[in-house]
Amino acid sequence: MITNKTLKLSLKSLRDFAKKRLPDQELIDLDERDECPLDIVRYMCSPDKLGIQLLFVPEEFGGMGGSTFDVYRICEEMARIDLGVATSLFATFLGSDPITVGATPEQKNKWLSRIADEGVLFAYGATEPEAGSDLGSLKTTADPVVENGKVVGYKINGSKQWISNGGIADLYTVLANTPSGPSWFVVEKGVAGFTHDKPEDKHGIRLSNTAALAFNNVYVDADRLVGGVEGQGLLQAQAVFGYTRLMVAAFGLGAGWSALDRAIPYSTKRIQGGAPLSEKQGYTHKLMVPHIARLEAARAYIEETAERIDTGEGSLNTEGAIAKYMATEAGNAAAEASIQALGGYGYTHEYMVEKIKRDVRITTIYEGTSEIMEMTISRDRWQLHLKTRGQHYHEQARLMEALHVRNSEVGADMAALAMHALSEVMEKARVARLTRYQHILLRLGELIAYAECAGCLSRRAARLAENKLNEKANSRFDAAALAALARIFAREASLKVAEEGLRWVVGAGGVSDSEMAGFEATLRLPAVHRAQAGLIADMDYFADVLFGRTVKHPELRTETEAVLSV
Ligand SMILES: Cc1cc2nc3c(=O)[nH]c(=O)nc-3n(C[C@H](O)[C@H](O)[C@H](O)COP(=O)(O)OP(=O)(O)OC[C@H]3O[C@@H](n4cnc5c(N)ncnc54)[C@H](O)[C@@H]3O)c2cc1C
Repeated sequence: MITNKTLKLSLKSLRDFAKKRLPDQELIDLDERDECPLDIVRYMCSPDKLGIQLLFVPEEFGGMGGSTFDVYRICEEMARIDLGVATSLFATFLGSDPITVGATPEQKNKWLSRIADEGVLFAYGATEPEAGSDLGSLKTTADPVVENGKVVGYKINGSKQWISNGGIADLYTVLANTPSGPSWFVVEKGVAGFTHDKPEDKHGIRLSNTAALAFNNVYVDADRLVGGVEGQGLLQAQAVFGYTRLMVAAFGLGAGWSALDRAIPYSTKRIQGGAPLSEKQGYTHKLMVPHIARLEAARAYIEETAERIDTGEGSLNTEGAIAKYMATEAGNAAAEASIQALGGYGYTHEYMVEKIKRDVRITTIYEGTSEIMEMTISRDRWQLHLKTRGQHYHEQARLMEALHVRNSEVGADMAALAMHALSEVMEKARVARLTRYQHILLRLGELIAYAECAGCLSRRAARLAENKLNEKANSRFDAAALAALARIFAREASLKVAEEGLRWVVGAGGVSDSEMAGFEATLRLPAVHRAQAGLIADMDYFADVLFGRTVKHPELRTETEAVLSV
């Protein structure tokens, strides 16, 4: 168990260490040389140095037993420093996951203790040249070696692609096909027949070592089969998806914020058109405020999911997918906008935002691409829609309406509009059998993610107002500012769900001319449009908070003031 004080100390040591050992110029040089700073990675993992890995390891194996919530906070902080180094640390975490969830007690003791005691680095070898999103088509094999009628070991043959820490790890967990199906094996570096390629020359996370692995008759003893039973590999991988995707979500969040946190101070110093850019509404309301709203909506979802995992609600794979999808897409968009916010400077190495943009790009690809996330989200919630006879999101909307009665400031009424519209779009898709179109299924995944995140951010803003937020939660914004963000995001979500939902359903031929007016009415489009009122005032208010200007609550702002502030 980690206390809030210990977590804060760990976050601070991480920041202090990065300031000293990984200043901007060092990061730029390493990025240009395409070099993984192995000494730094080892220092960060060493139990007697920074010991970040201890947070991930259960206490019974010598670690600190950090909760999901703790690990999210650490992952976000690591991503703010450098996503390549963060990936290297994450690879050990990911690589040891099959052991954490599936190994025998002896195996756990043997391998997890080595992370805690020796700071060994792991790599997680699942992907193959022809098996990426579709892991089931993997070709690497593990053939039993039988002596006196007993399986004494396995011979592994095949190859793995794009493996983080591939060229630097001490231990590898490798997914291979046994006669009973995919299974994880622990392979040590240097064993006969096991080689890795040179590091990949990548678009981003160039401080992370990524390499292909080759297995040519690599012999491992039978006790290297994780869990001691063949065929459990995919189940063991899936058992932690909610958790691991939450960590990549935290990467998207951290990287997106680190780009914005360079653009925000820059904009206060850059004078154009006679005033700092931070005072130009057309700049802040396009390049900053909406990105912050999306990132904070994703944070709300990450925090809520982490709390639910920590209270034992299960692996929450769909929620992990929603968190990853929203946070990594928002992180990418925020980094892209930050380049724009710095103009020509943003396009150069020196100002770092272009590096962050290249780095954060990976987060919508690894640990499941955004399209696979959309599919996962959509398929799961589709089942809920069917099971509840189309009532699931109407019920969620009613909870939002009840929240609005308790707190009318947090945009819960608008989140309710998004959920009612979502329910109607899904119902229309069911009646017209539109999920036979894969594109419709995936677009539904996107709309579901927006609606659920809108509800979640409203809930988080309400909890903050009631002083009920998790003590370990990020506390950058106060209750009024978070409520403004919740309203901004809920407006976006309701408009997106209603209008894009209409677009895809009509586009797929799901609505006849005679049904059109009725369908539009069920989406409550006029209410969604009316809910956009107050958007600019909320954005003005939030921009004032962001730049530390004297602020008034948006409702106290007169129309004339709003006009004058243009
Ligand atoms: C830098 C880096 C580090 C990585 N680290 C690791 C690691 O440590 N361990 C590991 O095991 N793997 C790792 N990976 C692999 C990563 O997880 C895969 O690249 C990812 O899962 C996507 O697989 P793929 O590259 O084969 O793409 P594909 O699966 O071929 O996908 C290509 C495109 O098609 C889309 N697509 C795929 N299937 C469908 C479908 N059914 N319907 C619609 N669209 C679809 C995808 O969304 C994507 O846009 C890493 C990759 C990179 C680049």
